[in-house]
Amino acid sequence: MASSSPKAYKPSSQALSQASSVESSLQASFWHEVIDTHPLTASGQTRLGKAIALLTAHPTAGCLIALHRKKVVGIATRQDLMAAMAQNPNWPKIRLSTVMSRPVVTVTPSAAISTLSSLITLLQEHQISYLPVVDERGYLLGLVEQSRLLRKLQLHRDHPASADTASTYHPQRAQIFADITLKIRQSLQLKEILQTTVDEIQQLLKADRVLIYQVFPDSTGKTISEAVVEPYPSILEIPFPEEVFPETYQTLYAQGRVRAITDVHAPHANLSECLVEFIDQWCIKSKLIVPIVHPITPPATPSNEAAAVRKNLWGLLIAHQCARPRQWSDFELDLMQQLAGQVGLALSQGQLMEYLEDRVKLRTAELTKANLSLKKEINDRQKVSQALSRSEAQLRLVTNNLPVLIAYVDSQQCYQFNNKSYEQWLGRAPNKIHGQTMQAVMGEAHYQKIRPHIEAALAGQQVSYEGELTFKDGRDRSVSVTYIPHIEAAPQKTSQKAGQKAGHKTSKKKIDSRPATVKGFFALTTDISDRKAIERMKDEFIAVVSHELRTPLTSIHTSLKLLATGRLGDLKSEGQEMLTVADENTDRLVRLVNNVLDLQRIEAGEVTMDAHACDTAALIEQTVETMQTIAQQHDINIETQAESLPIWADPDYIIQTLTNLVGNAIKFSPPGNQVHLSVQKYPQTSSKTASETQYALFCVQDNGQGIPTGQLASIFERFQQVDSSDSRKKGGTGLGLTICRKVVEQHGGKIWAESQLGQGSYFYFTIPLSANAVP
Ligand code: ADP
Repeated sequence: MASSSPKAYKPSSQALSQASSVESSLQASFWHEVIDTHPLTASGQTRLGKAIALLTAHPTAGCLIALHRKKVVGIATRQDLMAAMAQNPNWPKIRLSTVMSRPVVTVTPSAAISTLSSLITLLQEHQISYLPVVDERGYLLGLVEQSRLLRKLQLHRDHPASADTASTYHPQRAQIFADITLKIRQSLQLKEILQTTVDEIQQLLKADRVLIYQVFPDSTGKTISEAVVEPYPSILEIPFPEEVFPETYQTLYAQGRVRAITDVHAPHANLSECLVEFIDQWCIKSKLIVPIVHPITPPATPSNEAAAVRKNLWGLLIAHQCARPRQWSDFELDLMQQLAGQVGLALSQGQLMEYLEDRVKLRTAELTKANLSLKKEINDRQKVSQALSRSEAQLRLVTNNLPVLIAYVDSQQCYQFNNKSYEQWLGRAPNKIHGQTMQAVMGEAHYQKIRPHIEAALAGQQVSYEGELTFKDGRDRSVSVTYIPHIEAAPQKTSQKAGQKAGHKTSKKKIDSRPATVKGFFALTTDISDRKAIERMKDEFIAVVSHELRTPLTSIHTSLKLLATGRLGDLKSEGQEMLTVADENTDRLVRLVNNVLDLQRIEAGEVTMDAHACDTAALIEQTVETMQTIAQQHDINIETQAESLPIWADPDYIIQTLTNLVGNAIKFSPPGNQVHLSVQKYPQTSSKTASETQYALFCVQDNGQGIPTGQLASIFERFQQVDSSDSRKKGGTGLGLTICRKVVEQHGGKIWAESQLGQGSYFYFTIPLSANAVP
C-alpha cells in the first residue's frame, strides 16, 4: 500500500509521461473516471487560518494544492495542516508555503497509464495518496486520489462485468466512506468518535467484533472502544501485557504494516501457539489489523531510530470474526485503513482542542486578572477624583467666602484660579477670566503699573505693594497686594541607581543639582481703602495737633531754658531738678512734634530734596562732628572707614539719616563700646534688566542689644519700637527710622537692618553714585 504521508514525495521523470494532446487525453474515458477536475487550490502565500477554513468547508477534500501562476508548486494534506496547527501556537499566521511538500510528483495524461492498477502502482511506488495531473506546461488539470482509485478497483472486482467500463461503479460504496467520515467528524469528543468508528465498521463489515486498541509507552495496552455482537465476550478495558504486542511488531505497524488473517489457526497465518491460545479465549477466528498512527511526532527524543518510529504508533484498529474464518477483501482493508487515518486525524484534532482549551483557560485567567486590576484602578481613580472634587469644593467654599481677591497665575501670566470676589468686586466671573492673561483682564494701563511686581514674583521673589484698583461701580479703591511665588523644589534625586546600571562600582550618592522652577504665583488682594481713610484722618489730625502744639511748645521750651539760666531768680535744688526734667521732656516733645511734621511733609510731597553732587567721605565727617558730643556723653567711641564717592543727594537729609542711625547705635549700646560708621562702593545687578548700577553703601554698626529677627522690617514703620518703654528710657519717638526710609527712598536707594539679638546691629542704606543718579 502507498504511504499516506505526502512528505515522501519525490519527483520522478518516469512518472511524468508525455501526452500528445491534453484535451484529447482528458476526453479519454479512463481519465474522466479517475480525475477530480476541481481539487482545492490556493496560493503558497495563503495563511494557514484561511487554508484550514477552506478544508473545513470541503470535508471530503483530503489535500490542498499550492499554485503559482497556474503551475503546481506544492501540496499539503489535511494531516499536514492539522500537524502544523497543533505544533505552532501562531498557526493562523503561518504561510502555506512553509508547511507544504515540494517538489510535487505530478503526472500528465498519457497513453502509458491507462488502467487503474498502473495508476495505483505509480502512487504506491512514490508512497503518495494524491497525484496532481498537469498539462505539458505544468498547469493543473485535476487530481487523482488513491482512495478513489481503490474504491474503483474494488468495484471492478466485485462487478467484473463492468470492469471495462469504470463509469458503471456502484455509487453506494463511494458514499460509505464519506458517510462514516462525516459521522466520525460530527463530534469533538474523542471517546465518542472512537465509539462511532467501531460501531460503524462493525455494522458495515458485519464483523463480530471491532475494537480500538491503545498502545501505551511501556508497550502494554488495552481496548478503549469496542463493538461486539452476542454471544462473543467483550475485551474492553482488559489490560494486555507487552508480550501480546512486542516492540518489533509495534515498529512494523508504525511503518504502515497491515494484516489480514483469514484463519488464525491456519499454519500459513504464522501465529505462535501461545498467541493462538491466548486469543482463543476471545473466540477469534479471523482478524484484520491496521495501525492508527500519531499524525504528530511526540516531542520526546527517543534513544534509537526503531524507538522513534515506534513512537508514531498510537494504537490499532482491529476487526475480528469469531463465528468462522473470513476472507477479508481489499475494499475492507482499504476502508479500515482510511478510517484509521480519520481516527489519527481526530486524535490530532483532540490534541489541538486540548491545546486550544488550555490556551483559552490561560488567556481567560490572564484577562480575569487584568480585568480585576483594571477595576481596582478605575475604583482608585474614582476615589481620587471624588477626593479631588471634595477638596476643590472645600477650597472654593473657603476662598469664595473671603472678602479678598485670591488668584493663581501661571508662569505665562494666565489666570488659573480666581475666587468669587473677582465677580463681586470687579464684575469678572472666574470662568470668564480663567486661562486669560493678566494683561487682558487688568487692561494695558493697569498692567504696565503692576508689571514689575508680576515679573519679580515670577523671578521667585515674594512681592507686597499697595495700589489702586477700579471696582465695577467705577470707584477707585486702595488695595494691598501680595504675590507669593509657587516654587517647585528641584527633586533630590540620587544617581546611585544609574551608576549601578552602567556598571560603575561607586556607591556615592550624587545630588541632582537642577534649579528650582517658578511655576506661577498666588495673588492675594485686600481692600485697604477704609484703613487708608482712617490713616489719612489720623495723619491729618496729628499734623494739625502737632502744628498747633509747636508754637506754645517752643515758647514753653524757651521759658524753661530762661528759667534754667537763673536770670529770673534762683530756684532751690528741688526746683532746679524739676526744671531739668521739664526741660528734657519738653525737648522730647519738641523733637516728636518736629518729626511728625517732617514726616507728614515728606509723605505729602511737600519736601523737595535739594540734591547736588556731594562726597560721601565729607558727609561721614560732618556726621561724626555732629554726634561726637553725644557719643562722649554715652562713653561711645565712633570709628569711621569712609571711601570718597560722588553721590547726587541732599546733604542735609543724608546727614539727618546718618545722625539718626548713629544716634540709635549710641542709644542702644552699653557705655565703653564702639560704633562703626562706613561707606563703600556697592555694585548691584538688576534682576529685571540685568544691568549693573553703582551705589554708595552706608553702614552703621554697633555691638549693642540687637533687634529680634521678626522685627527687623517693622521697625521702619511709624511708632514701631522693639520695646515700647524705650521711648521713655531712651527718649525715642519711634519715627526716626520711618523718616530715614522716606529720605533714602526719595534718593532712589534702599534701607534695611541686620541684627542678632544681644550681639549688635547693622543698619545699611544705599544711595546711587552720581553717574547713575537722575538729577
Ligand atoms: P526711636 O526714636 O525709638 O529710636 P527709631 O524709629 O529710630 O525710633 O527706632 C525704632 C526702634 O528701633 C527703636 O525704638 C529700637 O527699638 C529699634 N532700634 C533702632 N536702632 C537700633 C539699634 N541700633 N539697636 C537696637 N535697636 C534699635
